[in-house]
This record gives sequence, C-alpha cells and structure tokens, in this order.
Amino acid sequence: MDFVNRFEEALNNGYIKAFFQPLTRTISGKVFGAEALARWDDPERGLIPPGEFINSLEEHKLIHKLDLAMVENVCRYYQQNDCKDMIFSINLSRLDFVETDMFREITDILNRYHVPASAIHFEITESTMLTNPENTQRLFEQFHNAGFSIWMDDFGSGYSSLNVLRDYPFDVLKIDMSLLRKFDVRSRKIISSIVNMSKAIGIHTLSEGVETEEQLAFLRDIGCEILQGYYFAKPMCEADLLAYLETHSSETRSEREFWNKAGEIDFLSGDPLMTTLDLSENNTDYVCGTAPIALIEYNHGKISYPYVNAAYSEEIKKLGYNSIEQIENDVNDERYAYYDRFMRQIERTIYPGGIQKIDNIIRDVVYTFTTKLIASSGDRHLIASTVHIISSERSDYLVLKYSQSLYATYDLVTEITPDKDGAVQIYSNAGFAKIYGTVSLRKGITEFAATEVHPEDRDRYLAFFDLDTLKKRVEDYIQQSFKVRGGSGYKLKNIRISKLEDGKYLYTIQSV
Ligand code: C2E
Ligand code: MG
Ligand code: MG
Repeated sequence: MDFVNRFEEALNNGYIKAFFQPLTRTISGKVFGAEALARWDDPERGLIPPGEFINSLEEHKLIHKLDLAMVENVCRYYQQNDCKDMIFSINLSRLDFVETDMFREITDILNRYHVPASAIHFEITESTMLTNPENTQRLFEQFHNAGFSIWMDDFGSGYSSLNVLRDYPFDVLKIDMSLLRKFDVRSRKIISSIVNMSKAIGIHTLSEGVETEEQLAFLRDIGCEILQGYYFAKPMCEADLLAYLETHSSETRSEREFWNKAGEIDFLSGDPLMTTLDLSENNTDYVCGTAPIALIEYNHGKISYPYVNAAYSEEIKKLGYNSIEQIENDVNDERYAYYDRFMRQIERTIYPGGIQKIDNIIRDVVYTFTTKLIASSGDRHLIASTVHIISSERSDYLVLKYSQSLYATYDLVTEITPDKDGAVQIYSNAGFAKIYGTVSLRKGITEFAATEVHPEDRDRYLAFFDLDTLKKRVEDYIQQSFKVRGGSGYKLKNIRISKLEDGKYLYTIQSV
C-alpha cells in the first residue's frame, strides 16, 4: 500500500487509531496505565500494524504528524472517559524533534483537552539522542519541567548503550522483550543486573513482552515494578480498554506514590534496607547476592505481606513457617506469643520512622528482624523487612538461646574489649538504628552518643565511656542513668559497664 500518499487522507478520516496495551503494577496486580500503539485502520485492508508504515513515514518526514495524532487520540480518550488516575505512554520518533517544535505542539493539544502532563509519559529510544545530540538535554529539561515523564524504550536491544543512561535523566527504563525471549540463566542474570542497576541510579523499571507465568514470577522476584505483555493483555481498541478496566481495577494516585517508593528498594543488594539513592562519591553500596526481602503493609492495625521474595521464603522456613500466610495469621492474632514484640517493632518503625533491628527467637532459632519505613499514606504504611538467621554465626548462640528471658530484661548487651578497640553485640532489643561499634569500639561510642543519647547527656555519656581511664575506674562495675532514644522520644536507661576477664567488659543498657 502507498502509505505516504494516503497518509493525509488517513489522518483526516480518523483511520489512525490508538490501540492500548495495559501496563500492570507487579506487586499489586493493578493497572498502572497503558501504552498507546498506532494502528492504521484501513477501510479495505483492515488493521495495519505500525511495523508496516512507520519506516515510510519516517523516510518522508511525516512521522511527527502520526505521533501528534496519537497524542490527540489519547487526550480525547482521556477527556471522554473517566480515567483521571490512568497514565498513558506514547511513543515518539527520533525524527519528531527534527521536524517540528514537538514540545509546543504537544502542550497545545494537552491544553485543548485539559489533560495534565502527569498523565502522559513519552517513550523514546536511544536513536533520539543520537539524532539530536545538541538539543536532547534541553528537551529533557523542557519536558520534565512541564511535568512529563520520559521513558527509555527498548533498552537492551540493538545499540542501547550505558552512556545514554549515564547522561540522561530517564524516569523509567523499559527492558526490551528480546531479553525475555531467551529465558536462560544468562538472560535472567542480565535482566536482574539491569533492574538492579536502574534502582541504583533511581530509575523505575518496566518489562515488556511478558508472556508466561514463569517470566512474571521471575520479574516479581527481582523487583521489576511494571509489566506489559500478552500474559496480561494484547493491545486493544478504545472500547475494549474500557471493558478491561471494568474488570481490572487501576491504581489511584496515592497508591501510585505508595508503590513507587517500594520500587526504589534495591531488592538484590546485600543489605537492601541500608541502600539509599545516595549517588554521592563516598557511598560504597554495591551489588551482591539476592537478599531476603519482604514488604509488610500495615493498614489500620492489620498486617499483610504484599511481597515476599524467594530468599525471604527460604529464611522463614528456618523459623518453622512454610508460607507467608501462616505468618500473616500469627501476627494478626493477639494470642500469638510474639504478637506484642512484633507490633512494637512495627510501631517503632512507623513512629518516628527509620530502621529498626531487633534480635528475636522463635522455636529456638535466633534471628535479626530488620524493618524500615518506606512509605505512608494516612494510616496505611509500607515497611520493607529482611530476616537474618544468626544462630550458626554467633559463637555465643547457645547462651543467647537459653537465656532469652534473662536477656529480655536488657535493651542491649555488648561485650567490649577496649585495648583492641573491639565490640561484639550479643543481644539487642532496643531497635537502635544500627549495630554500633562492629568495626571500632571508639567509633561506635561516638556514633551512639551522637545518634541515640539525648544532647543534654551526651558529654556525661562520653566521659562515662572514656576508654583511656576505664581500667582505673572499673573495679567491679560502673553504672549511670542516661536519656536514650526509645520509641518516639527519649527514655531514662541504666547503662552499666561490668568487668569480665582478659581485658573484656560487658556493656549493658537496661530500661529504668
Ligand atoms: P514498542 O514501543 O516497543 O511496542 C511494543 C510492541 O510489542 C508492540 O508492537 C506490542 O504490540 C508488542 N508486544 C507487546 N506485548 C507483547 C508480547 O507479550 N509478545 C510479543 N511478541 N509482542 C508484544 P506494535 O504495536 O506492533 O508496535 C511496534 C513498534 O512500533 C513499537 O514498539 C514502537 O516502536 C512503534 N510504534 C508503535 N506505535 C507508535 C507510534 O504511535 N509512534 C511511533 N513513533 N512509533 C510507534
Ligand atoms: Mg514503546
Ligand atoms: Mg519497546
């Protein structure tokens, strides 16, 4: 067919249509938005896919007209239907920016239909940057300032290079479906690395071409946030999208903010709760194996686990749980032996927010349960957690195992060796932000004073802990009370340093 000569007629008669393919939030299964894909609906030939006409339109410098027609289709659809919270992504060609002032044309259309920029996202490929090397940075600024998101399409296909990711602030990276097609270990490792890398630089991830349950499970496990593909739905006409949305609920704006935060967690890092989007030079986060991670939702007092990865499922087996549903049942049941401890940790995580690390014991297995507040929306909170079984690693495990009731009277028990500048934490129930002094006792003391001790008591605490005079001062033990962080404020605690053998001391914190 002679697309070029019949293009004007097709535009005027409305033969250029937008088909929509749903984009699904991996964790919640809700519809996040839809990608608009062009179809030429010819009265004689029927539906013609873009693969047949995009090239000729590009060659004849007509593609921007097609893309603007798509923007208009989407805006009209948005205006005519109730899709306030839906997000639509639209493909732009590298040549759009050569032929016209695309930004102005697009914003004109949005204004005409009263569509907010936040509802429209643009997909561009690397070729856009290569074709417009001088002005792409400016384009990013222009689009971002106006509130549009820019997605990188087809990452991992053809010539996509890391330079482009380094140099341009993409909001979302779409992993090309060619990577999923060969679903062997090598491809899976490549995809996990892409997802992990994206999180490390603060870009959200979307996988296209998801066709099987197996691919879905894998992408969920590695923390890929949005999915698109025949497994969920094929591209469909406007009426079919409306019907689809009748049976598949789409996420609200506040849900989107909530889950976007979860997407920032580095699921694959060694210490996922500690990693941050800190891109400063001295940040030393790096990638290692898959860490156990789960997301805990606290919704008006009720606990659920919307996400648990395979490593987490393995860890909880060691605590005697064969499924996350069992945990959900237990922790929502006030009669459960650990209900109070669990809820206390959750509450401490939410107010005042931050990281809580608490040692616990279930069925003779000692583990550290770490929680971090990720997002809050009213009385609904999202908490990331890891579980780390410590039984076999700490030499004093047996002591810990048989003396939980004894230890429970302490907030913290740590063995210190001042001469060697060393500290080994034996037990912690206080939920302090971190384990202090694992590297250096001196450093641990100053950090603890700065982070956990009330400013009024700080100097006295440092004098109490003065390592140079400690030997002289401690015959049996020394003890003082300090205001130490606890819950949402400070609480008075007894801090004691007791002499042990071989230059060792026991450092304990106990609530008054
Ligand atoms: P794309 O942007 O990467 O779009 C994804 C393509 O993959 C679509 O093909 C979609 O139908 C197809 N697809 C989605 N899920 C699956 C799946 O699970 N399995 C398989 N095998 N395929 C899947 P489509 O609609 O034929 O579009 C092809 C390409 O044409 C698009 O690739 C995009 O680069 C271009 N295109 C489409 N619409 C437009 C447009 O309005 N403007 C411009 N400039 N390009 C467009
Ligand atoms: Mg696309
Ligand atoms: Mg693509």
